[in-house]
Amino acid sequence: MAETSKIKNRCDVCGRVFPEGQGIVLTVDDEVVTLHSKRCAVKFLRAVIDKLDPTASKEAIKKVKKDFDEILRKRLLSTGKKI
Ligand SMILES: [Zn+2]
Repeated sequence: MAETSKIKNRCDVCGRVFPEGQGIVLTVDDEVVTLHSKRCAVKFLRAVIDKLDPTASKEAIKKVKKDFDEILRKRLLSTGKKI
């Protein structure tokens, strides 16, 4: 087993080491966040939101909600379903 030649990621939340290609890797500018599971990702993102200025994060959240809302609408239209 060429275990040592594999690049390993370390979860920034719980410290678990996991192989590259697994888990969730978030990149913001030059900051890389490696998270081994969805659970750790949620934990991390909640903490990030807590650290942000509420006025700024509120605007970002509104925009993201709107983007997902548009995706949902398009998906509903493409499947021909009517609300
Ligand atoms: Zn983790």
